[in-house]
Amino acid sequence: MLQRKFDKVVKHYFPDAKDAKDTSIHYLGRMQIEHELDISRVLMATSVCSDDINVPSTTFFNVLFGPFIMGGLGGLPFAGKTGMTAFAHHIPDDGSAFIFYGPHIGITLEGELGKMYRPRQEETGNSCGALMLALSRLQDSEYKPVLNDDDYQQMKLEENLLPYRDQILDSNNQAKAITEATYDIINKKIHEHISTCRDEFPVNKVTLLGGIIINTDYGLDDYFDARNFEVIDLRSL
Ligand SMILES: [Zn+2]
Repeated sequence: MLQRKFDKVVKHYFPDAKDAKDTSIHYLGRMQIEHELDISRVLMATSVCSDDINVPSTTFFNVLFGPFIMGGLGGLPFAGKTGMTAFAHHIPDDGSAFIFYGPHIGITLEGELGKMYRPRQEETGNSCGALMLALSRLQDSEYKPVLNDDDYQQMKLEENLLPYRDQILDSNNQAKAITEATYDIINKKIHEHISTCRDEFPVNKVTLLGGIIINTDYGLDDYFDARNFEVIDLRSL
């Protein structure tokens, strides 16, 4: 079985990753049982990359309302504080909020990270394309992103990655390292936006699930390597 072969390859790099179904059952279960949240009144937001290949990954949680789409290239929450505020205002009465976020990385059966076979393409392509482009540019020590209106998200993504440049280039798996760095950036921004916008939420509980989406071949389940699951009580911020 192809799915089983992928399972081995994915777990070589991400030992704790779960496939789509296990991810949704596991975390929706914890929200309901451990945290006594009413799953029928949850609005979801996503901060994942715009890439079409991630659309199935956000249906992990399609029993929830939404998603409100916060993410742009690389998965950074480009909708910003205004986006977080709008999301907060859309939460069902007596409900709660759920934010699913993180970068993505492709993998092939041969175990190559940063690549994947896309629907009806013979050759492998980059995944995440934005991150692999940023990586190729950061490999040039002279390179500096220049912010501009027509390529705003990519430039901003690269600017955010600059402080991680050495740690990425020193890694023996740069594709994985730039993905881990991007997770860090997204995770920090999501927490900052929630904290600044906390008074906009009509409810007290916000559930966060952050991690790395691992894209396998088309038609097979993607995987998710969770790095943060938490239910924030906004009254404690
Ligand atoms: Zn991407």
